[in-house]
Amino acid sequence: MSAYHPLSEAQAIEYARQIPNLFQSGSELTSHEIGDGNLNLVFRITEKASGKSIILKQALPYAKVVGESWPLTLDRARIESEALIIEEGLVPDLVPHVYAYDADLALTVMEDLSDHIIMRRGLIERNEYPLFAEHIGRFMANTLFFTSDLGKNQQDKKIQQGRFINPELCKITEDLIFDDPYRDAETNSIEDHIRDAAEQLWSDSELHFEVAILRQKFLTSAQALLHGDLHTGSIFIKPDSTKVIDPEFAYYGPMGFDIGAVLANLILNFAGQEGWSKDLESRKAYRAYLLQTVKDVWTHFEANFRALWNEHGVDRVFQAPGYQDYFIKNLLQDTAGFTGAKMVRRIVGLAHVADIDKIEDSAARERAQRLALAIGTSFIRANRQVASIDELIAIVTKES
Ligand code: ADP
Ligand code: MG
Ligand code: MG
Ligand code: MG
Repeated sequence: MSAYHPLSEAQAIEYARQIPNLFQSGSELTSHEIGDGNLNLVFRITEKASGKSIILKQALPYAKVVGESWPLTLDRARIESEALIIEEGLVPDLVPHVYAYDADLALTVMEDLSDHIIMRRGLIERNEYPLFAEHIGRFMANTLFFTSDLGKNQQDKKIQQGRFINPELCKITEDLIFDDPYRDAETNSIEDHIRDAAEQLWSDSELHFEVAILRQKFLTSAQALLHGDLHTGSIFIKPDSTKVIDPEFAYYGPMGFDIGAVLANLILNFAGQEGWSKDLESRKAYRAYLLQTVKDVWTHFEANFRALWNEHGVDRVFQAPGYQDYFIKNLLQDTAGFTGAKMVRRIVGLAHVADIDKIEDSAARERAQRLALAIGTSFIRANRQVASIDELIAIVTKES
C-alpha cells in the first residue's frame, strides 16, 4: 500500500517487480511511458530476458483538456478497471486482460496489446479489417444487452449502476458534445475557414431542439453500462483481432451512444479521405469499404442483440409481441442522433480527430470538415425519423 503519487518510469519498474507471478525475481526490466500524458500515464514494462511485457495505466488527478489543468477524479481508474473486468466476463476475446487494480495508486495492470495498432491510425493508413464489424457488433451487443434490464435482473442492475455514476467524466461529455458546439463557447476549436458553418450551427434552432433531445437522453436514460468513449482511438486492432480499451467514461446511459461513437468515427474517416486517398478511384474504393463497414457494424450488432434477447431475455413483459422491433427501431434512431453529435463536436468542439485535422492541404481539410458537418447535422436531424440503416447510408452518399 502506498499513498497516491504519479509514478516515474523507474518507480513503475519497482511496482511491476512486486506483482506476484509475473516476472522472475531479480530479472532486468525496462520501462517506457507511452501514453500521451493528458489524462493518464501509460507505462510499458518489459522483461529483457523473456520479452514478456505488461501495461500499467495510472490516472493523473487532473486533465489538461481545457488548456489549463482541471482536477479530475482518480476514481475513474476504478471505473475503468471494473468496466474492463465486466467486459472480459462477457466478451473475453475483445478486451485486454486485467491482472490487477491498485486503488491507492489509481492504477490498472493489464495485458500489453502492442502487437495491435490503434484503429484510427489503421484507418488513416487505409487498411481494411474484415473481422472488425463482427467483433465490435458482438462487443456492443453483449456488453449492452447483459448490463441492461433486458438481460440482467433489475435489482442487480441498479446495484451495479451505483458503481458507475461517473459524474465528472459524464460532465465532460455533456459539455463538449451536447452543449459547446452549438454556441460560441470558449472551449471550441474552429478553423477560420469554416467559421461560417460553425455560426450556422449556433443559430439553427431546429437543430438545437434535436440536440436537446439527445442531451436529455444522455443525462437520464440509464439503459445499459456503456463504454462511454468508444471512438477508433479506443480500439486496438490487427487483421485477426480487435481489442477495446479505455472505458474510463463508463456509466449507465443510452445504448445508442456507444454505437454512434463507432459509426461516427468510421464516417469521420470517410470524410477525411479527401486528404488520404491518392486519387478519385482509390477514394471511392476506400469510402465504399467504410460505408459497408458502417452497415455491417449495425447489422452484426442487431443480429447479435436480437439473438441474445431471444435466448437470454430475463423480463417477461419485454417479450410482448412487437416490442423488440419497437426497441430496435428506437435504438437505431438514437444511434443516428448520437452519431451526428459525435461528428459535429470533432469538427468545431474541443478535441478533434487526426483523420481530419492531420490533412495538410487546407482546402482538402476544409472540404472534409464541411462534409463531416453536413453528414453530422443530417444524422442529428434524422434522430426521430430514420427507419433503416440503409437510410443512414443514403444520407452519407447524398452529402458526399
Ligand atoms: P487515455 O485514457 O489517456 O486516452 P488510453 O487507455 O487510450 O489512455 O491509452 C493511451 C495510449 O497508451 C494508447 O493509445 C496506446 O498507445 C497505449 N496503450 C494503452 N493501453 C495499452 C495496452 N493495453 N497495450 C499497449 N498499449 C496500450
Ligand atoms: Mg489519449
Ligand atoms: Mg484513450
Ligand atoms: Mg481515456
